[in-house]
Amino acid sequence: MPEEEGATELSHEAVLRLADGRKSVTGLAAALRGLRERGTLAPYWRDVYNWAGEQPELSTPLHLALSGLFAPSPQERLPESVALAIFAKHRRLSGSVTRFEEFAQCPFRHFAHYGLRLEERREQGMHAFDFGTLLHSCLRACGETLHAAGRSWRDVGETEGHEMVQDVLGEIAPRLQNELLLSTKAYEHLLARIGLTAERSLARLISMDSASQFHPVAFERIFGGGSGAMPPLSYDLPHGVRLDVRGQIDRIDFDESGRYFLVVDYKTGKMSLNLLEVYEGLKLQLLTYLLVAKNLLQKTEDHEMLPAGMLYCFLKYEWWQTDHKASPEEIRKHFDAALKMPGWVLADPEVVRAIDATGRFLPIRITAKGEFYASDRPKVKTPEEFDILLKYVNLMLEKTGEEILLGDIAPRPYQMGKRTACDYCPYRAICGFDPTLDGCTYRRLINRKDEELMEDIQQREQERDAEKKGGSDHA
Ligand code: SF4
Repeated sequence: MPEEEGATELSHEAVLRLADGRKSVTGLAAALRGLRERGTLAPYWRDVYNWAGEQPELSTPLHLALSGLFAPSPQERLPESVALAIFAKHRRLSGSVTRFEEFAQCPFRHFAHYGLRLEERREQGMHAFDFGTLLHSCLRACGETLHAAGRSWRDVGETEGHEMVQDVLGEIAPRLQNELLLSTKAYEHLLARIGLTAERSLARLISMDSASQFHPVAFERIFGGGSGAMPPLSYDLPHGVRLDVRGQIDRIDFDESGRYFLVVDYKTGKMSLNLLEVYEGLKLQLLTYLLVAKNLLQKTEDHEMLPAGMLYCFLKYEWWQTDHKASPEEIRKHFDAALKMPGWVLADPEVVRAIDATGRFLPIRITAKGEFYASDRPKVKTPEEFDILLKYVNLMLEKTGEEILLGDIAPRPYQMGKRTACDYCPYRAICGFDPTLDGCTYRRLINRKDEELMEDIQQREQERDAEKKGGSDHA
């Protein structure tokens, strides 16, 4: 069967083969072997994979045909010429930060997603992704309306907040997937739930704005996304390849003195942040956004602005069941505790109070003597530590790009505590990784004190600087 790169039409023979599910699985295995050896794969094989994965009677043949294809060797590498053909067409490797985090989770997972481009098929319907996108759009529209009118969030009362959200949803919902959200009672119910979540989230953002000297100045700033966007974060890799990292910063806030800025990323699911995850390249998103915002402000502001922090902000509202009728104060305390914002802020009690004067929003406590509680110390960073971490995110993005070009596609998943890269991974059927087999072991990430990790980070940076200097001295 032909496997020409870029082929879009199925030949007569291919159609006949696809009519027989089992034969199509055999053909898929051959096509994937071709991709692995020559770096080419006709696009329709991705559809075959997605289709076959949804046929219960094909699940065993699919697993058998594909699991032997990629032997689970920790040294697994594609030839560099094939890696270049697959990952850096036209000498350009690009992606969002999530792509590089996925490589850090497991190189094979990255290969299956971005090399083989195998994805779970999306049926028509509302997914968690759409739910989050709609919430994001709704809050961005509310924020932009207020900003354009020169108004503060804190000026918005409950009734106005409700009307604002309903107006925005009334505009957006009919445009979503052919009026899907208006099509059935179930979707109408979902739309009402999104509206309620948006209203509660807006109310919380308004409360925070009242408790803070930091206020939003920019919403959903895209970098590396084409016309009108900020430029990508770019790096020069070997073989003349250009690495472009793109993304979107949900919010940038300035403090009232104009000295500090804050980056805020909205999340609809669970989220946390620790230094080990950054050290291992698993969580680079917030630091990347902070770096991009810093670069941007260096160009747009007439004075230096310092990072006051980077925070996740939850957009969610979950029902809370109690065995008694909770008072409004109890309800408020419950949600304050559940929705505290993970992330890191500047290790300066004055700045922390300026971000949150009430202690309702940041999970950071200050003693009567004006010091941070020891258990909260990992959540604050000195200006020097922020500088080191911003340099490190540059290092990690560039280094990950280099490793991708070296053809690393090993099924080498991380394990951190009980969590592993394999949890919810859609590529289990083809990677061949099975921790009960000899030679298949998780890459265990051992937690250490933050001070030790910071020392290692600096060490890596020094080694990298020396490596680059050595390279340029020999150039
Ligand atoms: S199941 Fe685990 S080993 Fe296999 S691709 Fe996914 S993360 Fe990697």
